Parts: sequence; structure tokens; C-alpha cells
Amino acid sequence: MGANITRWRRIAVALLAAGLIPGLISGCSTASEKSPTADRGNSATTPAPGGGSHAEAEGDGAGSGGGGAGSGAASAAAFRKWGIEPLAAPPAPPKTKPVTLRANGDVPVISDIPVKDKVVFITVDDGAEKDPKFVTMMEELKIPFSMFLTDSAVNGNYGYFQRLRQQGNGIHNHTLTHPNLRALGAAAQKREICGQQDKLKARYGTAPRLFRPPYGNWNEATRAAVKACGAQAIVLWRESMQIKNMQYQRADQKLHPGDIILAHFRGPSELKGTTMTEMTANMLRHIQEQGFTVARLEDYL
Ligand SMILES: [Zn+2]
Repeated sequence: MGANITRWRRIAVALLAAGLIPGLISGCSTASEKSPTADRGNSATTPAPGGGSHAEAEGDGAGSGGGGAGSGAASAAAFRKWGIEPLAAPPAPPKTKPVTLRANGDVPVISDIPVKDKVVFITVDDGAEKDPKFVTMMEELKIPFSMFLTDSAVNGNYGYFQRLRQQGNGIHNHTLTHPNLRALGAAAQKREICGQQDKLKARYGTAPRLFRPPYGNWNEATRAAVKACGAQAIVLWRESMQIKNMQYQRADQKLHPGDIILAHFRGPSELKGTTMTEMTANMLRHIQEQGFTVARLEDYL
């Protein structure tokens, strides 16, 4: 027995090292994500100009280029208004994206972007909390982020996320109902992924390029479904933002260049009384204190 336990432990460590079971590290612990530990989202990607059916919202979605903290000249005063030391302006977006995605290509599984600059990427998942103050905060701070939306969490209020999209933030696919995909067969996975892909395309005029599986749980059927549904990458994460603390996957408990950070649209009922903007301020402090700034994920893949 002892040998078996040791063997399984070795396998678990190997899987962890390979990032294959992130759900055990920071995945949503329940389908309703009541737990402040969390899962992943996905981000919307390059909006097709003028491709939408919603005239009010075409704006410039993710991929409009440029951008990042400071690029909109968010003032030090704006940061201090929210109780945060100013983040450095991010470098200009790379001329060649470090990660190349191809329609109909293999679907990579990505937890970080290979870069040298001290930039990280913020992703925000699900869509349950719809705090108007968060829209104001991100407008004032000009911090880019990518949203991975689940239809059941959005609960009909896609208009809220359109306001964030108009700030230049990407919207991506996080399934219709937030299931554990590993527990579903290929056809059911496809329904969850293609279903949300179609909804987002109908609502925003652009089909997402990125997909994030709930709880970080995926398998090869997920990969095949993502490709069949028209998305191009599975996006996981390296850090998961809790209420005050950041949860790190690496033993050194630090941010690394190119890390993707997971956060959630959550409010006081899920965050023990903490608001979405307070949680976001906590996250930005962790980033600022380690000498990092925030860049736009869609500029890098
Ligand atoms: Zn989720």
C-alpha cells in the first residue's frame, strides 16, 4: 500500500508540474462558485469590426491594440482614488504575438505567455456579479482584462459586460452552464462550448477565440470541441485571486512575467462582504508590489 501511495503521489506531482490538474490548485470548488477559490474564464478576442448585430456596442473590443495599464494615461490620482499605488505603463504590444493561434490549428493549453517584460494578464470569470462601480473603476484605471463568461451566470444581462467590452476588454467562452467538462461526453461538451460560442457571437457580433473550461477541468474531448466550435486556445491560469490573497501555483509564491491571473465577477455575498472593486484593488496591489503591471492578453495571443 505504501508503495502505491508513493507512486500516486509521484504521479500527482508530475501532473501538477505539467499544469494538468490546475483544478486541484485553484479550480472552482462548486458549480455555483460560492467558494472564493476559483476556476478559469476565457477571454473574448479580436472583434470583427462592424460585425455585430448590436449597433450600440461595437466599440473596440479586445484586440484593438495598444492599451494596458497607463496607456490611457490613467493618472496617479485615479489610482489613489481607488487606494492603489499607480501601476507602471505597460510596454507597447509586441509586433509579433508570442503565441500564435490558428483557426483549425491544434488547440494549445496556455497558463502563461512567454515574455520577458514584467507584465501579467488579468482574466475575470463567470459573470455573476454586475457591480456598476467595477465599470467605473476599470474605466478610470484603464486596466485591461479579459472576460470568460458563462451564460447561466450572466443570467441575461449581457449588456453589463458590453460596457466593459466597450472599454476594449475581450469577451470569451466559459460554457453555457459551468459544468465539469471531464464528467461529460464529447457531444455534451460540444453543446456547452458551441452553445456559448454561438450566444456570444450573436450578442456581441464576434465569436470568441479563447475558451476556459470551468474549474480548469478539460480532456482531449474538450480540445476537439473547442476546435470544432471555432475557438483557438484553452486558457488556464497561474495565479488565482481570492478575497485578499493571491493563490500561486509555483512554489516561490511570486508572479512571473507573462502569468495569467484568474479572478471572478463576485460580490459581497461570495466574498464575505468584500466588494468586487475591493477585491480588484487587492489584486492590483499584489501586482504593483511585485513590480509588475498589466497588459492586454489579446495583444499577446
Ligand atoms: Zn468559472
